Amino acid sequence: MSAVPSTSTGTHPQGALYDYEVIVVGAGVSGIYQIKRLLECGIKATVLDGNSDVGGTWYNNRYPGARFDSESYTYGYSFSQELLDEWHWSERFSPQPETLRYLNYVVDKFDLREHMQFNCKVEAMIFDEETDTWRLTLSDGRTLSCRFVITALGPLSTPTLPNFEGMDDFKGISFHPHHWPHDLTDLSGKRVGIIGTGATAIQIIPVVAEQARHLTVFQRRANWAAPLNNGPISDQEMNAIRARYDEIFAACARSPAAFEHVPDSRSFYDVPPEERRKFYDYLYDQPGFGIWLANFPEIFMDEKANAEISDYIADRIRQRVDDPAIAEQLIPKDHGFGIQRLPLETGYFEAYNRDNVELVDSKATPIERITATGLRTSEREFEFDVIIYATGFDAFTGAYDRIDIRGLGGKKLRDVWARGPVTYLGMLISDFPNMAMLGGPQVAAANFPRGSETAVDWVMPLLEKMRAEGCTRFNVRTHAQQAWFDTVKQSYEGLLMNKAQSWITGYNSNLEGHEYGHTRYNIFGTGGVEYAKHLEQAAKSGYRDIDIS
Ligand code: NAP
Repeated sequence: MSAVPSTSTGTHPQGALYDYEVIVVGAGVSGIYQIKRLLECGIKATVLDGNSDVGGTWYNNRYPGARFDSESYTYGYSFSQELLDEWHWSERFSPQPETLRYLNYVVDKFDLREHMQFNCKVEAMIFDEETDTWRLTLSDGRTLSCRFVITALGPLSTPTLPNFEGMDDFKGISFHPHHWPHDLTDLSGKRVGIIGTGATAIQIIPVVAEQARHLTVFQRRANWAAPLNNGPISDQEMNAIRARYDEIFAACARSPAAFEHVPDSRSFYDVPPEERRKFYDYLYDQPGFGIWLANFPEIFMDEKANAEISDYIADRIRQRVDDPAIAEQLIPKDHGFGIQRLPLETGYFEAYNRDNVELVDSKATPIERITATGLRTSEREFEFDVIIYATGFDAFTGAYDRIDIRGLGGKKLRDVWARGPVTYLGMLISDFPNMAMLGGPQVAAANFPRGSETAVDWVMPLLEKMRAEGCTRFNVRTHAQQAWFDTVKQSYEGLLMNKAQSWITGYNSNLEGHEYGHTRYNIFGTGGVEYAKHLEQAAKSGYRDIDIS
């Protein structure tokens, strides 16, 4: 018989009470699927979220132009045939409002909302060694206890602002796109400044360019980008997609990044240059990440192959931007194509052909301060009504650092991860017992829901084993954690992304300890197929890397 109660308020064998057997932190894509699986198993569980509704990243990022870079039908959950049959994605790459509707639809369809609590940010999580329970302190003043915590915090959920002087002085509206005001739907007539040219800005800029009186883009480093090639999905096409969902998800499971796009099987060097060129032409016009993920695998590892595709994309930029000087400014010179996470765009480069759009090189003429009416660079003053700080995220570990998480012996996770994350399979952390992460650091970077389902499907049997055997604590062994860290570190070797100034290596100029040159191993670089094998192996071994008691 299980020592862990499955109904109402649980009673620990020693008599201490806990409120829930499992608390899931985060009501985004992972948290939604996690609570569904827990409830199916009759486990008393709840989801906590600081937002006032479901959706996580899709609740927060309401900026104009926000949409999938994943084909919509590869992004939806795969767990319910009924859901797959019912939902119609209207565009190949779903826009944020539709995605948020989808997540709400899922939550309502499976009656999950009543198991979710909103407006309660988790501020602290302390493990009680006496009772093998977690005690969570919430922003609304409550404390809740549970046997197991499952964090579904999102890898890119903690926005980072720059540290410019005078940011509080600005009299207009300023914000990070993660906190785009819900009622700010149109910037018509406004003078807008946007700082940053990452994937977020690259989605915002073409849309705002069409609305704003004037848009000034402050670019510190140019970023490679390729066309999204979005389009509507007709009823007929959706029916065809539905008929091949099994095939689609199977293809995702076979691909390193969990998309239908798979690396070309030919070697770069076996294909003659003119044929390679035709291949790039083909890929450039295809929807989605094909130009990146279906390209020759050598582009990620081999300087010569990477230089060729970089030159190709640079030429495409030159063809799309009228002013050759601006085109050159938009072509990255400090890194090759695709070694940072590739942004996909719709009319990004053409936006710079408009009279109302200006590109400022904020490396050559740095921003010196924000003023009451705009900002000042080393060269001149700018006046704005709106300033958008599209300056990125404290990736992967940021959301964890902002919770006071303490494990065995009062060990603080923040301290353990001060120089970068260390995990077991990206799922567990030594000395932080009874805690599992979904989408945490050191998982394979993947089409997010595909990775979420994999993670949840790995956690559930572990919990079921604990329940079946009446166990109250799991803790991953330190040597197994070290072995995973070594594997992750090794996975960066030989990849050009190892040099990237991006969240893949933990670089963030706005955060201490995230300087370029000190790599934080945020992802497992070998990809999802190998990652899934590691997970499977761990489970098949009977969790021999985990102390279960
Ligand atoms: P990002 O890629 O980190 O880009 C941040 C931008 O801000 C960079 O251009 C950076 O310049 C600039 N910046 C940062 N601090 C600055 C400062 N103090 N002064 C001047 N410039 C500064 O962030 P992001 O665009 O938000 O994208 C992050 C990730 O979110 C993406 O890689 C992607 O994984 C995800 N995302 C996904 C989607 C999607 O799936 N559709 C959409 C948007 C974002 P430097 O390059 O010089 O540092």
